[in-house]
Amino acid sequence: MPRIVSVLLPMPLPEAFDYAEPEGMHLALGDIVAAPLGPRLLRGVVTGLRDGTGGNRPLKPIAERLDEPPLPPRTLEFVEWAARYAVDAPGQPLAMAIRGLRAPRPKPEKRLRATGRAPARPTPARTRVLEVAGEGLHAAAELARAAGVSSGVVKGLLDEGALEMLLVEPALPFAPPDVERPHPPLNPSQAAAADVLKAMIDDQGFSVALLDGVTGSGKTEVYLEAAARVLSRDPHAQVLVLLPEIALTQAVIDRFERRFGALPAEWHSGVAPPRRRVTWEAVASGEARIVVGARSALFLPFADLKLVIVDEEHDGSYKQEDGFIYQARDLAVARAKIESATIVLASATPSLESLWNAQNGRYRWLRLSDRHGDAELPEIALADLREHPPQAGEWLSPVLTAAMAETLERGEQCLLFLNRRGYAPLVLCQACGEKLKSPDTDSWLVEHRYTGRLVCHLTGFSMPKPDRCPHCTAKDSFVSIGPGVERVEEEARRKFPDARVAVFSSDTAPDAASARALIEAMAAGEIDILVATQAAAKGHNFPNLTLVGVVDADLGLRGGDLRAAERTYQLLAQVSGRAGRHERPGRAILQTWMPDHAVMQALKAGDRDGFVAIEMAEREAAGLPPFGRLAAVIVAGPDPAVVERFVQDLAAAAPNAAGVDVYGPADPPFSLVRGLRRKRFLVRADRNIDLQGFLGAWRARVKVPSSVRMVIDVDPYSFF
Ligand code: ADP
Repeated sequence: MPRIVSVLLPMPLPEAFDYAEPEGMHLALGDIVAAPLGPRLLRGVVTGLRDGTGGNRPLKPIAERLDEPPLPPRTLEFVEWAARYAVDAPGQPLAMAIRGLRAPRPKPEKRLRATGRAPARPTPARTRVLEVAGEGLHAAAELARAAGVSSGVVKGLLDEGALEMLLVEPALPFAPPDVERPHPPLNPSQAAAADVLKAMIDDQGFSVALLDGVTGSGKTEVYLEAAARVLSRDPHAQVLVLLPEIALTQAVIDRFERRFGALPAEWHSGVAPPRRRVTWEAVASGEARIVVGARSALFLPFADLKLVIVDEEHDGSYKQEDGFIYQARDLAVARAKIESATIVLASATPSLESLWNAQNGRYRWLRLSDRHGDAELPEIALADLREHPPQAGEWLSPVLTAAMAETLERGEQCLLFLNRRGYAPLVLCQACGEKLKSPDTDSWLVEHRYTGRLVCHLTGFSMPKPDRCPHCTAKDSFVSIGPGVERVEEEARRKFPDARVAVFSSDTAPDAASARALIEAMAAGEIDILVATQAAAKGHNFPNLTLVGVVDADLGLRGGDLRAAERTYQLLAQVSGRAGRHERPGRAILQTWMPDHAVMQALKAGDRDGFVAIEMAEREAAGLPPFGRLAAVIVAGPDPAVVERFVQDLAAAAPNAAGVDVYGPADPPFSLVRGLRRKRFLVRADRNIDLQGFLGAWRARVKVPSSVRMVIDVDPYSFF
């Protein structure tokens, strides 16, 4: 009997396509196949098989079954769940799930081996090469280096047949973890938390824990213990650790390696494509037991995932904003449910969503309230800028400057935090008052002095700084308004000419290697003052860092979105937590114009619970997350008239549903980006409402003009 094969393709298509199964191919669910779409052949996944033919419209046959491990059924189930959650096409998350397959396999490597045949002319150099070669396999360059000879000597031996060349598959880096290795004992509160996690793991089923511990309390030690339990009780079980930022992966990888004597697999954009390919396959085969990665690792084809850890679970970087829009922390909980796994959400400043679930008993709430050992939490003080303003053209108040001087005097380190890249956020022409804007975009150009360029942080546009104003042609008329990290660095150098000052931002540390170099230099005491954006706010341990100065603590409060206060609290608490990690007490000074703001008062008092209670009450009164659901619908197109007409149609088509409010269409703060006019709706729904169902029904009622793009963002994090 011929069969019809449904194949999901990694594209934004509404559903799987049907093909004919060629005779003798014997496909199964999850198989990776090559299927024709128009003139192209695409890699896709078999999601359905049924008897039959295409009827009077013959189906195209599947071209080939690819020699790849099939996508596990639970991974496929997760892909479909994620698409429903995001109100998007299932091909979008599928593309993420099979992205590892796009990369080429690593090429076989050339290795040399001694054949045992003696060289015709046994010079001392040649003899040394053969001695070093022994019975092993060597890369040519390495062999020459080890023997202290030129590459010509090695080549001569190869030509003569004393050495031979072999092609070998590169060694796979997925050694099994050793759970028996010695490790430091847990302190009593860590042990209590780990015991609860171990009991959850032993119960074998879906369960969620919120590991809520102050910075330095040893959350990592606790989840390593949970990982050890999972790995030792089941020889096939796999562990996934998600981190918000690539710069953090190295530290966590090191700790896993120390604990289990084997390198975990790594998964993020910095991993070379051939390596990604073998990692994908090792995760699918179950050979890779521990994966440490960025949010996209959530889509890997785990054979038997039993423990998921989401570290720094509150972090906004878990939200992917373009392409397939998702919040990895929330999807991780869904994935754990599908896999019947335990999931641990760890943070010193958990999200309100997770705290709410913990308060309601849906998540086990494990609290670690003290730092490990003798380390103390830093003391937090507010520098009231109304009373102690910086001098004109400066950004560091006398209070902070004095504290820096004391710290440097003692031979300790300072971190100045400002979440703003570049030199100045705004450039203004003094002659005509014009602010320099990004072309076709509602966003100011940011001045970067290192590169001498003006950069749009929204679109990435950049240009050299002109010497004349493009509007009034006045020469050298620009002034830089406000500070970025480069400008604070300049001031720190001016005030402390003997100090070693460095900047840590995505400009100075664009990739994992340069970030690691800066982190190591800071940890080794080679930097006295580190001026940093949030790239340095997270996770790192700097033993000699005792002063954190927050240049503009109010910055995050000004934007005014749903999570402004929460995010500011989390970021500032995390940054402050960098200070005084070891035996030296630390302190943090927050410069603010609003010392009476609830966020500042809570930070000063170290009263997280108080802050959370106020913020929860406000969210509850407004029916906002976690008490209600939220989605944004963003419409964009090049022709303002077409966009306007469409949003009016869309507004008229909104289904009437009790418990759902539709706000808009409104102009978002950036209503023009790259020449596209943007409009936005916000949808708020009560918790018991099927928000995705509502959004799907709404979208089905309109026809989107071909020049317009409509994007649904469930649980939006940015409101531009
Ligand atoms: P967190 O992730 O909660 O900020 P970490 O797990 O990084 O904390 O621990 C902070 C520091 O204390 C690390 O240097 C860690 O090695 C050390 N530490 C934590 N717990 C222990 C323990 N039980 N024994 C020895 N050192 C520990």
